[in-house]
Formats: sequence, structure tokens, C-alpha cells
Amino acid sequence: MIDVTSQEVLVSEKGVRRLESGHPWVFASDLRVLKKAATTGPGLAAVFNTRGERLGEGFYNPHSKLALRLVTYGDAPVTPELIAERIRQAAAYRERAAAGFEAFRVVHSEADGLPGLTVDKYGDVLVLQQHAAALELYTEIITDTLTAVYAPQGILARNDGALRKLEALPQEVTVLAGSVPETVPFTEGDVTLAAAPYTGQKTGAFLDQRENHVYAGRLAYGRALDVFSYHGGFALQVARHADETTAVDSSAPALAQLEKSAADNALSLKTVRGDAFAVLRGLVADEERFDTVVLDPPAFAKGRAQVTAALTGYRDLNLHALKLLTVGGRLFTTSCSHFISEAVFLEMLTGAAQDAGRTVRVLAKRGAAPCHPEVLGLPETRYLTFVSLEVVRCY
Ligand code: SAH
Repeated sequence: MIDVTSQEVLVSEKGVRRLESGHPWVFASDLRVLKKAATTGPGLAAVFNTRGERLGEGFYNPHSKLALRLVTYGDAPVTPELIAERIRQAAAYRERAAAGFEAFRVVHSEADGLPGLTVDKYGDVLVLQQHAAALELYTEIITDTLTAVYAPQGILARNDGALRKLEALPQEVTVLAGSVPETVPFTEGDVTLAAAPYTGQKTGAFLDQRENHVYAGRLAYGRALDVFSYHGGFALQVARHADETTAVDSSAPALAQLEKSAADNALSLKTVRGDAFAVLRGLVADEERFDTVVLDPPAFAKGRAQVTAALTGYRDLNLHALKLLTVGGRLFTTSCSHFISEAVFLEMLTGAAQDAGRTVRVLAKRGAAPCHPEVLGLPETRYLTFVSLEVVRCY
């Protein structure tokens, strides 16, 4: 059970240096418990340095390697009102950062001073995830504050993600307020997309690419291919501008939703269910040509140890995509691995272009939509790289 009473923890010199640089994480190896509360367990902990000075207060979980996430600095306590205020501040920022969009991320965890909490808004429905154990103390205030700010039709806690296992938290999906339908339609640019809040990936759709969806759509033309399409965040925008669009994904439910949304938008496109690597290889072998290709794979590197293998995967996909492109054709290619920097991604693309025998110009380098803000000093908040390329000539 979670204990609300503050515990006290001591942080090593190394841990203190990280906290003083503005980064809120303390790993278990940099931390020692000074005073246990009546019942020990995940909850709040006051943080002290070796000189006995209080550094702040944060979310503590003795069951997690990421043992403490600092929420306040100095003497300020973590209170329900503080949590409510941070949510209101996050929502106020989105009024600017997501103006004109019906679906966006309201709270982006550490980037909004609410470690472990994400809240996504799809039209009138809010879907949240609690990835830090202590956040479960605040479910009621989180629900009340979001209700006060957005008056939503419903709020769903989609607490069945893999990150919860690292915190020894149960897997559960709970309606916290109102009613939440199986499918939630929302507009993005000029198309209507759909989120599947109970069963879809993440909280039901991919909001970090929302501006890139619209951008790629505007530049798409001719014969188009959207690989790793999910519900068609890219494919539907692309289909408005291209003559012929094919969407590829390995998930049958994702493609079924995409076909339904295409019909709802009166757009025609073809879907192919299969493994993206094999489908791309097959298209190259058949000497097919496309004017527009989108590659939006899942994160291949979930840790530093996987970077080399991930780059091999990215290179294979991008090499085949470039081979499929006509001269003047455009590639929209992304990585959502925090461990792959933009520079490393561009280096991989350079190699893929050389192997494909294509001279390629860079049209734009972009990142996640600003409702997923990157915060300086918190490198984990920068994870999405999006590059658009145009084939100048083949050699
Ligand atoms: N482009 C989408 C998001 C893609 S998420 C958008 O912007 O909304 C990644 C997608 O890749 C998921 O739908 C998943 O089903 C699919 N996927 C994962 N591995 C795959 C593989 N090997 N081949 C094809 N699709 C795959």
C-alpha cells in the first residue's frame, strides 16, 4: 500500500550533482533511506544531501531502479494543490502550443514538472497514464483538476503500459470520470482520425506527430506509401494530396480502423498487412516506384545497449525506401528512440542514401509537436526525430 507520510532519503554526491543540474531523477544506487515512515513503500520522500540540507521532495518508490523523481526544490512540500497547479500550468501552455488542434498532449511527465504523468486529450475525452507509484496518491485531484479545466465527457486511466511493471504497479484500465467510448474521433488538420483509448497503442493514438502528419500531407504527391501506418496519422493526410496511397502495418485492428477512417473522410487508399521490412524488400524486388514514402517505425532502441541493432534496422528501412523513390520523390522518415540523436540519425540516412545511389536534399528537420516539449537539461524529453528528404538524382 502506498504511504502518504513523508519518508526521508539521503542522496549521494553524484545524485546531488544530477539534481542540482535541474534533472529530477535519483537512481536507487545513489540513494539511502534515512527515516522510514510508519509503513514503508512508495510515496513521498524528502531528499537530503550528506550535509543534512533538504534539497526538496519527490515521488519515491523503493521497488524501482528509478527510485526518486524530484517534484519540488528546497522546503516546498508536494501537496495536492501543487499537483493541481502544475496541471493548470501545463494546460495553459497548451492553449498556445496546441492552438487549432482538437487532440494534443496536456501533460508530458517530467517536462511539465509532473514526473510519470501523461495526459492526452482527444476531443472531449482525456486519457492519462500514471508511471510513478506515488502519483496514485493524487488520482482524485488529477481527475478533479482536469474536469475543472476541460469539462470532458470522460477520463480514462490507461494504466496498462510496460513502464508500470518497472514500478511494480498493477496493470489496469479504469474510467475515472464520465463515460469513455471505444473509439474517439478527432480532427487533425483537414481529416478526422480516431483514437482507441482502451486498446490502442500508447493512449490510443500518436499525438507527438500531429504537426508532422499535416506537414507531410502538404508535401505528398503522386504514388504514396505510408509504412508503419497505425490508424493512418500520415496516410489520411497524404491521401488528400497523393493520387494513390498504400498504408502498411502489421496490426489488423490498426488497419481496420484506418480503413474505417478513410471511408469516413471519403478518401480512397489501400492497406497491406505485413512486416514492413519484408514488404519494402518485396516492393524493391518488384521494381515498384513511389513519389512519397513515410517511415514511422516504433522505437527500435529502448536502451543504450540496443542502439547499434536499432541503427541497422533504421538503415535497412531507409535504404529500401530510398530505392523505391523516383527522382523528385520525398521521404518522411522518423525515429522515436531517445537514444538516437538527430546527428546519429542523419549519419545513418547519409549511409542509406549512398548505398541506394541517391543524391538527397534535406527539406526539413523537425521534432515532436510542442505539446511534447523538450526541456533543456532533461535529455529524455527529446526523443522524436523527423526528417524530410527529396531525391535530387540517382547515380
Ligand atoms: N505512423 C503512425 C504511428 C505508427 S506507430 C501515426 O503517426 O499515427 C508504429 C506502428 O508500427 C504500429 O501501428 C505497429 O503496429 C506497427 N509495426 C510495428 N512493427 C511492425 C513491423 N515489423 N511491420 C509493420 N508494422 C509494424
